Amino acid sequence: MASEVRVRFAPSPTGYLHVGGARSALFNYLFAKKNNGKFILRIEDTDQARSTEESLRMMVNDLNWLGLHWDEGVDPVTLKDVGPYGPYRQSERQDIYQKVALELLEKGKAFYCFMTDEELEAAREKLKAQGLQPHVESPYENLPIADARARMAKGDKAVVRFKTRELKKDYILKDLIRGEVKFPSDMVGDFVLLRSDGMPVYNFCCVVDDYMMKISHVLRAEEHLPNTLRQLMIYEGMGWKTPEFGHISLILDDERQKLSKRKGAVACDQFKSMGYLPEAMNNYLALLGWSHPDQKDILSLKEMESLFSLDRVNSAGAVFDPVKLKWVNSQHLRALPNDEIYKQISPFLVAADLQLPSDLNWQMQSVETFKPYLETLADAVALYSPLDDSRYQINEEESAEALKMESTKSVLEAWKAAVTAHPKESFTEAEFLAIQDEVKNKSGQKGKNLFFPIRIALIGKPHGAELKILVPLMNKTSILARADKALARVG
Ligand code: GLU
Repeated sequence: MASEVRVRFAPSPTGYLHVGGARSALFNYLFAKKNNGKFILRIEDTDQARSTEESLRMMVNDLNWLGLHWDEGVDPVTLKDVGPYGPYRQSERQDIYQKVALELLEKGKAFYCFMTDEELEAAREKLKAQGLQPHVESPYENLPIADARARMAKGDKAVVRFKTRELKKDYILKDLIRGEVKFPSDMVGDFVLLRSDGMPVYNFCCVVDDYMMKISHVLRAEEHLPNTLRQLMIYEGMGWKTPEFGHISLILDDERQKLSKRKGAVACDQFKSMGYLPEAMNNYLALLGWSHPDQKDILSLKEMESLFSLDRVNSAGAVFDPVKLKWVNSQHLRALPNDEIYKQISPFLVAADLQLPSDLNWQMQSVETFKPYLETLADAVALYSPLDDSRYQINEEESAEALKMESTKSVLEAWKAAVTAHPKESFTEAEFLAIQDEVKNKSGQKGKNLFFPIRIALIGKPHGAELKILVPLMNKTSILARADKALARVG
């Protein structure tokens, strides 16, 4: 590519970072990396009533967590501007928008319009009644600026509208993802650039900023496609070169509706707290629309950075599949070294207040044991819980049947005796199975008469985790203490 690639992610900080937003950020990031370009984070906070610092902080944290580091924009810690094209927050660029609006007014591309809401409404109704498009033709279109200013000086309120009546041709966009998109010229009427309080609207700010920040490619969600016509008109009005556009298809749910929180988690930070890894999120989100040349589906960010291209981005909607996401997560998780896995699951174990051995060997052994069962980091809580002695208690409801069986007491006694006789603090799987056999022979019990009491004596209930994988992670002292509790229960 001839000139420098500069792309941007431009969130409005009015809530959480939706996975769709995260995917737009990711595609921009990958495109910048692949083309040795720059990735810019611009904050579209002109909607003062809905934009919050808290939301901005959350979005910045989520992007950072994903590892989608930007070259220009707000600093992830101080939120102050970084880069030569600032300010990067639209709320701090008001004078720039005013200047450009003035230029459009002076060039006759825009005009002050004094129509009241009532007048607008009445004009629209009239057009609709005639079966026409409700594009209002303002009587102020050719009012000289000086006259408008004089009215405003007297206190009359005016918006600044962009003149569309002279632009009669169709607009054809060569979208990098969707191919040729044709916008009929009458899709829009004279649209507002500045509201009567002087506040600029999104379409206007977006063009001014993309131009001034030297954005080469605008890669954003499909839902912005209708805005693109207005934006193309403004570029034309200013005589500015347009960037390239690529509109990324929607993320759909299993009913092929736009993915929303009605269907479960959609916020990036929800996935974080559910124990998803950022590597897995990036991998899965990239595959929602993009595909690897050899259809590989487990990919690192680095690999994607070197392979990403827009011609492999599909223009059809992509269905969000939580089961596939979980699988992708399990693959990334299990590929980590054991010590890294323990480090990653630790915050979840701590948050669940589990009391577990701090011995490093034990930790590594436990990861090796549980790894095949870990799909998310949060899964560790259920897997490790049976190993916390302080949590051992008999589940009365689930154990009622086994506790009533006549043979249970003798099985428990044989179990305790065999464990006591074991010469070491720890047990291998084979040793545990041998002890179980010994209990079988001594008590003369088999099937559930044998297994239910032993399970209750180990995990407090007759069903659940596989004992032969748990016991090697337990020690004799703990097993005996549990056996005593079970024996005390049967009296
Ligand atoms: N601020 C817009 C949004 O959050 C982005 C617009 C754009 O990328 O042009 O949807």
